[in-house]
Amino acid sequence: MTTKLFPRKINNKNLMENNYLKKNIHQYIVFYANIDKFQYINDNYGHSIGDILLEKYGQFLRNLIGNYGIVFKFYSDEFIIFINKNRIKSIDFITRKMQKRLCKLFKIQGYEIIITSSIGIYQPAIGENLEEVIRKAYIALHKAKKQGGKKLAFYTGQTEENIQRKAIITKELNKSLINGMFNGFTIVYQPIYSIKKKRIEEVESLIRWENSILGNVSPSEFIPIAEETGIMQDLGYWIIKKVIKQIKEWEKEGIKLKVAINISPKEVEENNFLNNIKKLIEREKINYNQIKFEITETQILSLEEENLRILKELKQLGVDISIDDFGEGYSSIKNMIFLPINEIKIDKKFVEYIHIDEKIELLVTSLILFAHKVGYKVTAEGVEYKEQFIKLVECGCDSIQGYFISRPIQQEEVKTIMENIKL
Ligand code: C2E
Ligand code: CA
Ligand code: CA
Repeated sequence: MTTKLFPRKINNKNLMENNYLKKNIHQYIVFYANIDKFQYINDNYGHSIGDILLEKYGQFLRNLIGNYGIVFKFYSDEFIIFINKNRIKSIDFITRKMQKRLCKLFKIQGYEIIITSSIGIYQPAIGENLEEVIRKAYIALHKAKKQGGKKLAFYTGQTEENIQRKAIITKELNKSLINGMFNGFTIVYQPIYSIKKKRIEEVESLIRWENSILGNVSPSEFIPIAEETGIMQDLGYWIIKKVIKQIKEWEKEGIKLKVAINISPKEVEENNFLNNIKKLIEREKINYNQIKFEITETQILSLEEENLRILKELKQLGVDISIDDFGEGYSSIKNMIFLPINEIKIDKKFVEYIHIDEKIELLVTSLILFAHKVGYKVTAEGVEYKEQFIKLVECGCDSIQGYFISRPIQQEEVKTIMENIKL
């Protein structure tokens, strides 16, 4: 690299096509830098300040890397930096240098603007073309953003595989949903055992998806993608409709069951969520108290006040609202009191150790005691062993769910399990 070819200024992206870089790409490490939430700066301070900031940010990067490499301004607030491997002691050295400066204050026209950056890093191989190199650095940037920003992230093949798999899942999900067919989706039900009544009065509905290309895909994998790509609303409505029909079917066979349905905040945010539920329940003539909605604490907290009101109204109509995976996140007593709920589901992680760790046992006992004091029921999930079951009975838990009772099963198997359960 000669200084002549790359003067100490911010280079335009067209210059990147330069022959020298193309031929010797493997001698560089590529950093793809981007200001976190730049749109916020444009919206709050105006575009002219945004432009000055970009100029200053480019200079800042230029100064930061000094003679180690070259900076190119790419699209909008994106900058690409090529660091010459021959000029640095190690990649660690340069990443540590950047790490320290991910947060930076700029003074522009009397404003003090603090920005944070995210940076994707890729080490090109011999003979790789520039476009491919930039794409991989961008994938690493995307990874840094997904980790919440103000981060450096390296490109790995795994990142690429994840992105490709996500793209296929998105495409296949969309294909499955065409014409409202929901091809390959089914619902299984996992029995929930009431300790006091000594019988199964409830099941949780769990979605399954078998796709011709991907095979069985776990809901933990495809639900977040469905949420992100805006198809969760349709899928969620399909699930609720199918479950409500199933409750009616069971009723016809003389089986009275409550079904716990997992819902995503995206569904509650849909304009017609409440009315749709009311219509479905009234059409099938089931009771509101035959439905329970499960939602995690983080998800419930992400809801706007008006959507929380929808849950409150459903609760008033008789629908149970349960906090799923309780204890998994930053569960707080305050949320337990103020959210519109009437059940908590103790996360598997506690249940896993309840029979071997006295502190966990004590914690669960106090949690259950408190939940009962404020009028909530408690279900423990992920119960796999008799020892766990016995401990949970001692702790005062109301209901038990897990492989110890039954795995998730087909709708027609529920009756047999209900009739044969003896504990
Ligand atoms: P979740 O709501 O916490 O569901 C419990 C998960 O634990 C289920 O996994 C269930 O099969 C599994 N499980 C049940 N008993 C045991 C046990 O004894 N031991 C162990 N290790 N696991 C047990 P699944 O069906 O793969 O679902 C994963 C997650 O996907 C669910 O976690 C839920 O968050 C989401 N999900 C599933 N179905 C739906 C749905 O219809 N709608 C929405 N929004 N999310 C769903
Ligand atoms: Ca659940
Ligand atoms: Ca759960």
